[in-house]
Amino acid sequence: MMRAVTLLAIPTLCLAAPALADIRFSNVRVFDGTSARLSAPTDVLVVGNRIEAIGPAARSAGGATVIDGRGRTLMPGLIDVHVHLTFGALTMPQLMSPDLTPASAEAAAAEQAKAMLLRGFTSVRDVGGPIWGLKAGIDKGSYQGPRIWPSGATISQTGGHGDFRTPAERSRRYFGKASRAEELGATFIADGRDDVLTATRENLRFGASQIKLMAGGGTSSEYDPVDVTQYTLDEMKAAVEAADDWNTYVTVHAYTDKAVRRAVEAGVKCIEHGQMMSEDTLKLLRDRGVWLSLQVLRETTPDMSPQRAEKRKPVIEGQPRVWETAKNLGVKLAWGTDFLFEPALNSTQNANLLELKQWFTPAEILKLATHDNAQLLALSGPRSPYPGKLGVVEEGALADLILVDGDPIANIALVADPGKNFRVIVKDGKIVKNNL
Ligand SMILES: [Zn+2]
Repeated sequence: MMRAVTLLAIPTLCLAAPALADIRFSNVRVFDGTSARLSAPTDVLVVGNRIEAIGPAARSAGGATVIDGRGRTLMPGLIDVHVHLTFGALTMPQLMSPDLTPASAEAAAAEQAKAMLLRGFTSVRDVGGPIWGLKAGIDKGSYQGPRIWPSGATISQTGGHGDFRTPAERSRRYFGKASRAEELGATFIADGRDDVLTATRENLRFGASQIKLMAGGGTSSEYDPVDVTQYTLDEMKAAVEAADDWNTYVTVHAYTDKAVRRAVEAGVKCIEHGQMMSEDTLKLLRDRGVWLSLQVLRETTPDMSPQRAEKRKPVIEGQPRVWETAKNLGVKLAWGTDFLFEPALNSTQNANLLELKQWFTPAEILKLATHDNAQLLALSGPRSPYPGKLGVVEEGALADLILVDGDPIANIALVADPGKNFRVIVKDGKIVKNNL
């Protein structure tokens, strides 16, 4: 190990970008994040990191860098609300290798973060894993990458979905010490109210915008069958209380009715996955205004072990039903990818959006990956790291923008090939890609 070490030496393009370039897009048709149709051709002016004006007021502005849109589409930057920037950048053998260091993990994640931004993803919610160094590096411009809503280390019970110990590692309470995954900042193994409070507050101390807790079995973990429920009601309430006092929320990993219902009872505001839920439980989410952060998971992927694929079966079976029912019931829905331990999957992030065609129109898909996902990010309230409106093209919103060659509502497949079709990408008012 590891290729990633050499990456530290690669300079990033971000440093060369002008600090506060004012940009005027002329002759663009706007997808505003919610509407089912593009606007008539217009102009959009960016001043600082905000959209200053749209229409005639934008046209008269002088001194700006002019990008001649030639009738192309200007849309909000894409948002993925379920990523693991670090776990998604490493293979399982790399993660388990004694050679892995926080610095090499960060370098690998930074490489993927840059590629993600250049695919048009200007904001992501990172729902678990080492993230603080990467996020700080992106925010100060030493790395290129999306805005990150960080959760920090996942919080898991002993034997739960976030217990990444090797079989040889003993419990800290019984003859062992802090596990390697905990030392790397990947996870906290926390049992009982006190430990859960400390783990939650430790993440909040580092700037977590929301807390990620493991409330049930998973398909990428070793010890926990997918049907199991994790954390007692009281333990989960402890996390919710600490997050609520910090004016933010808890989201949980859960697939089954029992795990989801317990989480909702504890006051959790968002469910990750949920593919095994019944219609009644989906109605509960709708009635309580709880978010469902759903993915389109694949039955198997090139590096997935047969055991993992087997565990995943009931999740895959429930998936189409849950997407459709949640949509029809009006559950608050968000979309994410959740790629793990297979860096080769990351380049399919945009194509994953096309899977949604089974249940959504192209305009609905674009709305989901921009406006709707931004609403979930906004649930962090005062703990959002980037105050301002995202997921829309409107006056006053943060300037995260993509200039698309063509009309993605007429041809949603355009978003699956960002290298070719995303001609200009702007994040926080700065041009990060321009191949016009
Ligand atoms: Zn995940």
